[in-house]
Amino acid sequence: MKTVGYAAHSADSELVPYHFERRELRGNDVAIEITYCGVCHSDLHTVNGDWGPQPYPLVPGHEIVGVVTAIGDDVATYKVGDKVAVGCMVDSCQECDQCEHGEEQYCRHGMTPTYGAPDRETGEITQGGYSKHIVVREEFVLRIPDNMDMSRAAPILCAGITTFSPLRTWNVKAGTRVGVIGLGGLGHMAVKLAVAMGAEVTVISRSNNKEAEAKELGAKGILASTDNEAMQQSLNAFDLIIDTVPTKHDVNIYTPLLDVDGSLVIVGQVGPLEELMSVPLVFGRRRVAGSLIGGIAETQEVLDFCAKHNVYPECEMIKIDEINSAFERLAKGDLAHRFVIDMGSLTAA
Ligand code: NDP
Ligand code: ZN
Repeated sequence: MKTVGYAAHSADSELVPYHFERRELRGNDVAIEITYCGVCHSDLHTVNGDWGPQPYPLVPGHEIVGVVTAIGDDVATYKVGDKVAVGCMVDSCQECDQCEHGEEQYCRHGMTPTYGAPDRETGEITQGGYSKHIVVREEFVLRIPDNMDMSRAAPILCAGITTFSPLRTWNVKAGTRVGVIGLGGLGHMAVKLAVAMGAEVTVISRSNNKEAEAKELGAKGILASTDNEAMQQSLNAFDLIIDTVPTKHDVNIYTPLLDVDGSLVIVGQVGPLEELMSVPLVFGRRRVAGSLIGGIAETQEVLDFCAKHNVYPECEMIKIDEINSAFERLAKGDLAHRFVIDMGSLTAA
């Protein structure tokens, strides 16, 4: 099937229109016309080559919402016209223990990311959601709940699940004291989801500039990591900290903010950190951990949770030809929400 999207052709070029083919439907495939796609900082890291060399041309995008336009002969769960979504993975081995218990993101044989990775059958490079259409095997397609506003759902597919999963894993409930470092796409979803779980949430930001946004999202306050006195007053103040900072940084300034047995979970930086000091960990049985997106069942769970609790990402709608300036703003981290591309703005021309 012919389609069109926006692709990067090298690490230092802008995204430009790109015509390419989606595969013919296999028996278990679902063809989707994409209506919205969120803009994740991972898209920027990937096209910039921050995570290593990439197979260009590369169409990013893994917060995908759309409508089913065709199904393969064996597809049982979806029909034409269904409102569906696709997140960060499009395949996995489906046989190992991790896949068996619904954590395909930790597949022993490596899951297949939505873009920039070889398809398991043909070796063709997967291409993401900054495009008109996508074809995905049914096991990796999510259902948009009936009452959910599709135009506001896309960021749940990555920012939502990536923060929901550790909040669940660390058993956040009413009264849990949660800190969220970095108020961007992931951070703002972490705040909303933790608040919906009943937690007491504080945003830990580089300054107080985003205080109004933090409070609107339901946080009880903001803590500026650059304010030494405020940081001193917050020692031992958190049970769980979700760290969404997208670059190399010093976690040692945050670990003493954890109470005894508290955990700081890294979901932002994938790569080196400043040297880790053991003192706050040893003197307080504190932990530093990491977490990668979430499994397919849990991704469906967060979609259903958001529909039930009326939790929606803050979406700033952009047209596809605004993507390069959106990337510039994302690189600076000057937004406390998510850009979402209205794919209606992508015409065949
Ligand atoms: P955003 O750019 O939207 O948000 C990141 C926030 O971090 C910024 O808004 C800013 O918040 C803060 N920040 C930015 N630069 C710095 C810095 N140098 N030092 C300290 N804080 C900084 O990014 P996303 O939320 O989209 O993504 C965050 C990270 O998560 C990315 O690295 C992305 O690749 C990764 N990611 C990981 C996933 C996983 O499965 N683990 C899944 C998806 C994304 P403030 O102004 O409040 O300080
Ligand atoms: Zn993402």
